[in-house]
Amino acid sequence: MNVEKDIILVLPEKIVAELKECNRNAAPTEACGLIFGDIKKIETAKENFQIHYIGKQFYCLKSNIESYGSFALIEDSDKYFEIHQDAVYNRQLRMISIFHSHPVPPYPSSIDIENMRYLNEDIGKKRNPFKNQIWTIMDMNTEDINGFIYYNKELLQVDLKIMNE
Ligand SMILES: [Zn+2]
Repeated sequence: MNVEKDIILVLPEKIVAELKECNRNAAPTEACGLIFGDIKKIETAKENFQIHYIGKQFYCLKSNIESYGSFALIEDSDKYFEIHQDAVYNRQLRMISIFHSHPVPPYPSSIDIENMRYLNEDIGKKRNPFKNQIWTIMDMNTEDINGFIYYNKELLQVDLKIMNE
């Protein structure tokens, strides 16, 4: 899998701690949640850009369907609406990442890849809010984190930067 160095998932330590807590509370079931924040295009040199996905607020969700965790939350539209109200209307943030944990190494499963592909399609003329999201996957045991994006019809691993505030 290609690693895209110009797309960076920036997570403050506070959010990383919350992801770990979410993982521990759900184990041995897969944890899932949504990360909201900002997406910024940053010029690093002349005509060179990086895209930073900056996490600011995490919402841990209970998943009741094993292995389909992240997908189940998307279908729970009431919960999604509640989170959206708080993050977007109250805090002026945008969704940047779909989080879930894995009992196996933190790489997308075949189901994840299928969902990433599916969620990247526009629905009619409406912009799909799950398009171009980073999928943050945590190893349930080691708590290692990886980020992935389905971008221009290609599955890429992104760089991860953990910030201590
Ligand atoms: Zn998965």
